Amino acid sequence: MASFLIVAIDGGAASGKSSTSRALSERFNFLHVDTGSYYRAITAELLRRGLGIEQVDAVKAALPGLDLGTQVEGRSARMQIAGRVVPEAEIRGAEVTAAVSHFAAIPEVRAALLAYQRGQADVARRHGFRGLVMEGRDIGSVIFPNADLRFFLHADPVERARRRALEGRADAIAERDRLDSSRKTAPLTLPPGAIAIDSTHLTLEQVVDTIGATIAEKLG
Ligand code: C5P
Repeated sequence: MASFLIVAIDGGAASGKSSTSRALSERFNFLHVDTGSYYRAITAELLRRGLGIEQVDAVKAALPGLDLGTQVEGRSARMQIAGRVVPEAEIRGAEVTAAVSHFAAIPEVRAALLAYQRGQADVARRHGFRGLVMEGRDIGSVIFPNADLRFFLHADPVERARRRALEGRADAIAERDRLDSSRKTAPLTLPPGAIAIDSTHLTLEQVVDTIGATIAEKLG
């Protein structure tokens, strides 16, 4: 019987990671960490400082001064930059969505987030959660390759575009997946040993039940 569980959920844009992870965090009293929101928060901050995706040296120079913190709201972790939680409306906007994969491809940006993301397990323990469900692109491959459970969500591109449209958000899903899969550092990939789930023809509830059954078994 595990006392504290780390669950990694990776997948492409709009593959259902966030809804699934959030539901699992509620079901098992885990802390939910959406690492995409972290890359988005850093992107919003860099853009706010007037830095563009081509100004790689200036971006690298800005990283040590970001002063990252974490605020726990309910069962979700939010990134603080210099004491401020970047609002959801800002990080989900079209400008950030178009730029985030470019900033996320810079190895120094990923390095700046590595220890911070691993440290979220301690945040979860300190707050008395039973585990951590962390979603992203490289959680099972790089951040927590020894996680208790690692999942990888797939879905047909047409279905993913439909889900995004239902949310009313503009998103170049295929382009982000192309950038995220082709970058040199920590690309989006199905890591060996991870459990792949194709959610194209499954409801959210079915995906949550499938993953939830495996988690329940581990928790004993
Ligand atoms: O999950 P979401 O689509 O909000 O992520 C936004 C972007 O952040 C991704 O397209 C990717 O470029 C980057 N990202 C990443 N590694 C992660 C999570 C997100 O590179 N673990």
